Amino acid sequence: MMPQQPLSSDKYPVASQAPDAQRIDKPEEACGVFGVYAPGEDIAKLAYFGLYALQHRGQEAAGMATFENQQVHLYKGMGLVSHVFHHEEILSKLPGDIAVGHTRYSTTGSSHIDNTQPVVVETRLGSLALAHNGNLVNVKELREYLLSRNCNFVTTTDSEMIAIAIAAEVDSGKDWLEAAISAFSHCQGAYSLVIGTPAGLMGVRDINGIRPLVIGTLGSNPVRYVLASETCGLDIIGAKYLRDVEPGELVWITSEGMSSQRWSKKQERKLCVFEMIYFARPDSLMHDETLFSYRLRLGRQLAKESTPDADIVIAVPDSGVPAAIGFSRASGIPYGEGLIKNRYVGRTFIQPTQSMREVGIRMKLNPLKDVLGGKRVVLVDDSIVRGTTSRKIIKALRETGATEVHMRISSPPVTHPCFYGIDTDSQDQLIASTKSVEEIAAHIGVNSLAYLSWEGMMIATGEEPKTFCSACFTGNYPVPVPEMLQRSKRMLEELKAV
Ligand code: SF4
Repeated sequence: MMPQQPLSSDKYPVASQAPDAQRIDKPEEACGVFGVYAPGEDIAKLAYFGLYALQHRGQEAAGMATFENQQVHLYKGMGLVSHVFHHEEILSKLPGDIAVGHTRYSTTGSSHIDNTQPVVVETRLGSLALAHNGNLVNVKELREYLLSRNCNFVTTTDSEMIAIAIAAEVDSGKDWLEAAISAFSHCQGAYSLVIGTPAGLMGVRDINGIRPLVIGTLGSNPVRYVLASETCGLDIIGAKYLRDVEPGELVWITSEGMSSQRWSKKQERKLCVFEMIYFARPDSLMHDETLFSYRLRLGRQLAKESTPDADIVIAVPDSGVPAAIGFSRASGIPYGEGLIKNRYVGRTFIQPTQSMREVGIRMKLNPLKDVLGGKRVVLVDDSIVRGTTSRKIIKALRETGATEVHMRISSPPVTHPCFYGIDTDSQDQLIASTKSVEEIAAHIGVNSLAYLSWEGMMIATGEEPKTFCSACFTGNYPVPVPEMLQRSKRMLEELKAV
């Protein structure tokens, strides 16, 4: 068997390095994936705009691989999609019939150009380009297994291991589909994958479907296919949403159309509920409705559970807006714009001086004095992670003249870290893992604080609770997490597996 070797980035052009990410007080989405099979179309441009719509799923790096018969073209770099692909000329050097794209926020592997995606590896059937959203939990075992097969690694990512596992199976004589299915039997955890090969485009979800992946169609005669993390990646290029890739499903798109198979007998839907609450864009569809509608219902439910006496409901923009509107409609307290977000800021290395302490929060959000002065305010947000940003916002509201601030959160307290592709802090950094609701209220400086109940969150989904992962609220992890990984996020107690 030929040892597998990913193509290192020095063989391909890469964009220059952008400034490091500035941490926000929210869990951060790991990645967005995109794929298109469209002979005769400008596939690089389609993939560019698809990735552009998925930018919220990863701002650290972006990349694209295209297939022109047997030849693969790859371009990737650090920074936003528009930064990496900053000129038409770059896209013009990415011809072909198939494109695979990726936006990245690192959850495993360091933030480095070699860890960007798509990962490209060589096989006896030609190149393979893989884009991954999620995290494997059995990386150690998989690495040992691949080393026992004489495979080599260039990066530190679990995504590279999946690509190498498939390549190793191809090189042992299997075709693309047999190889992929065989490789997935060694992969545990969360993975939504888009994989390009010279023969076709593959879309895959793990057996729990923890991360989303949708299929769209482009045009009618002939039909072209698109794969994207979210439907907003279809809308932007005029593709029509066809359906989700199902948990444990593999779709294979070639010149003969799309075929589907279940690659594992065992499937149990466990969609990440945080995708619905916060990560995915509000205009994306899940369960046949926009997430804006779902988030409105979260706000309504929250108001049913805990409405204080107040004069105005405002949101922490943008993610708290739908829930705040829902809260206002259900409580009868008028909704208003109270915090204005600066939409034009990028990342900066420049730190404010001591005398400019307020710059940090005011760079992003500025309260409206005439709206909030003398008012009792309900402030709605989707989650509290460390509490650092909430504390600063509330201080700014009080300085603006708000007489009372009542904070309402449209999800339950985040008490546990995520191991399935979301970058959450270690457990000891999650404020709700060590403090009671009353203690958090005192810490962030509000008159009252209430979270949506777990039951309320599930009622709002309109789906069976057992079809979701909600481990960061409950500690009930649908895929068992090895002890070594638990230690890496400084778990305070032993995990329960469900
Ligand atoms: S632990 Fe939380 S963030 Fe991670 S997949 Fe489950 S619900 Fe989503």
